[in-house]
Amino acid sequence: MAKKKAIISACLLGEYCRYDGKTKQVNEVIEAFKDYEIIPFCPEAPLFGTPRERIRVVLLDGEHRIITDVTNKDVTEMLEKEIIRFIKKNPHADAIVLKSKSPSCGIATTSIVDADKNFLRLGNGIATNIFFQKYNENIIFDEHSFKENKNLCPITYYK
Ligand code: SF4
Repeated sequence: MAKKKAIISACLLGEYCRYDGKTKQVNEVIEAFKDYEIIPFCPEAPLFGTPRERIRVVLLDGEHRIITDVTNKDVTEMLEKEIIRFIKKNPHADAIVLKSKSPSCGIATTSIVDADKNFLRLGNGIATNIFFQKYNENIIFDEHSFKENKNLCPITYYK
C-alpha cells in the first residue's frame, strides 16, 4: 500500500536552510511522520541560497508583499512562482506541517510590518496563503498546532 504523504517545512526536518544558516529541527514532528513519505518544503533556499538576507511580509498599499530586509527588493512574484511550482509537482498531501513565524511558512504567527518595519499584526506567510487555496486547509498545521490538535486532526498522527 502506498504511504501517506506529509509536506513538512525542511527546517523542521533538520535541514540547515534557514536565512541564518541554521535549522529548527523538531523531533516530535519527525517521529510522528516516520511512517509517511516525507516531502520537504522550503521555497526560500532554492531561490536565495543559505544563508541569505532576511525577508519580511510588508503591508504596502493594502497588499502583503515580501521584501528583503536590507536591499529592499520585492521578491513576492519569485516566491509565488516557486511555491506554485512545488504544488504542481506535489499536488497531493495527507498532512502539512509548516514552520511558525516564517514570512513564507507561518500560520497566523508571522509578523506583518509597515514600510518602516513597524509591527502591525500577525498573519500568514506567503506559502501558507497559497497552500490554503490549493490543499485541504484541515490538514495544514505548524509545529505547535500540530501537537495541540493531534486528537482533533482527521489524520491519525500517533499510533
Ligand atoms: S520556515 Fe520555510 S522558508 Fe524558512 S527555512 Fe523553514 S522551510 Fe524554508
